[in-house]
Amino acid sequence: MAIDKLREWCLKMYGEEYTGFLLIDFVDPLRLCPYCEIETIRKLWLGDPAREVDGKKWGKWYMWCESCLRGIYCPLGSFRVPKDEPYIQWGDKVALKQALPLELKLIEHPRIEQQRLQMAME
Ligand SMILES: [Zn+2]
Repeated sequence: MAIDKLREWCLKMYGEEYTGFLLIDFVDPLRLCPYCEIETIRKLWLGDPAREVDGKKWGKWYMWCESCLRGIYCPLGSFRVPKDEPYIQWGDKVALKQALPLELKLIEHPRIEQQRLQMAME
């Protein structure tokens, strides 16, 4: 998918704030924060070693800016933890709490609620 098309689709789906973060992996080799334009984007992987997809670990992620502490939880769907990427164990709430910044402000979008419901059932 061309990046403009992808952006258009994401904007419709998730709104502007969320899309700004979501597309960091795709559009911005510098990985600048969409808010403060500083290169302090961090991504945290949660992986489940018991679940493999195509030889990689099933995972979810958080991405945020260490400067302004805005960020997102990944959109609906399954992801694969990149090979050799460190991750914390899916379901380890203590490790997750320690790994995320205390003041993290997650950007919500209309589908997050739906996702939470889905997570509760996983
Ligand atoms: Zn920022």
